[in-house]
Amino acid sequence: MATAWDYAPAPEARDIVRIQERYGLFIGGKFVEPLSGERYTTIDPAREEPLSEVAQANKADVNRAVKAARGAFEGSWSKLRPSERAKYLFRIARILQERSREFAVLESLNGGKPIRESRDVDVPLAAAHFFYYAGWADKLEYAFPNRRPRPIGVAGQIIPWNFPLLMLAWKIAPALAAGNTVVLKPAETTPLTALLFCDVLRQAELPPGVVNIVTGDGRTGAEIVAHPGVDKIAFTGSTEVGKAIQRTLAGTGKRLTLELGGKAANIVFDDAPLDQAVEGIINGIYFNQGHVCCAGSRLFVQESIYEATIAKLKRRMRTLRVGDPLDKNTDVGAINSKQQLEKIASLVQSGVEEGAEIYQPPCKLPERGYWFVPTVFTNVAQSYRIAQEEIFGPVLSVLTFRTPDEAIEKANNTPYGLSAGVWTEKGSRILAMAQRLRAGVVWANTYNRFDPASPFGGYKESGFGREGGRHGLEAYVALDDA
Ligand code: ADP
Repeated sequence: MATAWDYAPAPEARDIVRIQERYGLFIGGKFVEPLSGERYTTIDPAREEPLSEVAQANKADVNRAVKAARGAFEGSWSKLRPSERAKYLFRIARILQERSREFAVLESLNGGKPIRESRDVDVPLAAAHFFYYAGWADKLEYAFPNRRPRPIGVAGQIIPWNFPLLMLAWKIAPALAAGNTVVLKPAETTPLTALLFCDVLRQAELPPGVVNIVTGDGRTGAEIVAHPGVDKIAFTGSTEVGKAIQRTLAGTGKRLTLELGGKAANIVFDDAPLDQAVEGIINGIYFNQGHVCCAGSRLFVQESIYEATIAKLKRRMRTLRVGDPLDKNTDVGAINSKQQLEKIASLVQSGVEEGAEIYQPPCKLPERGYWFVPTVFTNVAQSYRIAQEEIFGPVLSVLTFRTPDEAIEKANNTPYGLSAGVWTEKGSRILAMAQRLRAGVVWANTYNRFDPASPFGGYKESGFGREGGRHGLEAYVALDDA
């Protein structure tokens, strides 16, 4: 069924953002030239156009950043009254709100996500995280009753490209609230909002060296991990790199938290409100082009409602608008990089070859840029790669079940354990399922819902440690007996 009317283009103006031709590294409160002398081009994945030249930091650059962070930790930040630290965090949060449109446009330009999402989800949640942890800064003794929390030192933080500003907020806000200083590396394809954030820090008059931002690829990340002056590593990214980091850190005494991949089960029971569940399935897998570690990429539908669910799902998929991330009516934006597009295409190919049935709604894609049509696979066996491996794209695999036991067994049949969704009218069933699902986050009758007060993190190969909430502070404090 075609939509009755075509939408007129509704592009968000991009002139609110001033992108510099080139950026240095933000170390000790100012931008400095990279000692490496190397730069690379960061692009707009929707247009395949260059946006800016950013630095590729090397070992000497990382060393400089760690030294600046150490100096700021010992010289000022860890000694500051906690209520003073809170003031800076509140300021950062407010400035992010004030400049939210600028951040939203830049996030969509550099990452490819729809402006509707960066405007309504990424940026407001990033500000909310700073507000939330600002509130904890002078109340740490209440977070850890009968213990004396103290900061750890310098935190090395490495983040991915799917939620660049939001992941920065998840990492920096609790670290600073607890009195640590930071060296953060954004992902190589999405450095620009982190670099714009440096201007927020300047406006907030954060003491120099408290936050240092170094850009570069995995090599820069590896230098941060290996640097002896870093006391704690917080990493969000692939399971493969997470395992490598864990190997490097074994025996060093450095603290580590890992938030890695996922292959979440979204489970729909036959008593679920079906239209609402279909919205949740769509949001679970096509939000942010499926570049979401907690995406509901395996849909489990109870057999008795299978036909009806799939029919509704396909109908809803035909209304998804794929295209220009800066258009306010876009639902699904650009794939973040050529490399990621190739990975998605090859996993989808494997699904077809292994015998699953593919459905893609009719969809006109822009000529330039990286795009992938929202895809659903039915007739999927648990052993297929599309049911086992994280695709990190807009691709859903549908499986069925008859009983709650079968749903649990199949849902837990994965090396990952980050998130899950349960759709049912029965509260008791929600509680029973949540207890048995091996997943760090279980959503009930909703999906992909985030709140700074709620902890997030995984089991098994999805990592360890929690971000968000009171739990998120634990990674950034040493606890002495009171
Ligand atoms: P993805 O496959 O989603 O790009 P990665 O795990 O490769 O995920 O990337 C997540 C972050 O980890 C990025 O900032 C990347 O530059 C960084 N990274 C990649 N390789 C390494 C490494 N060996 N050590 C530390 N960080 C790394």
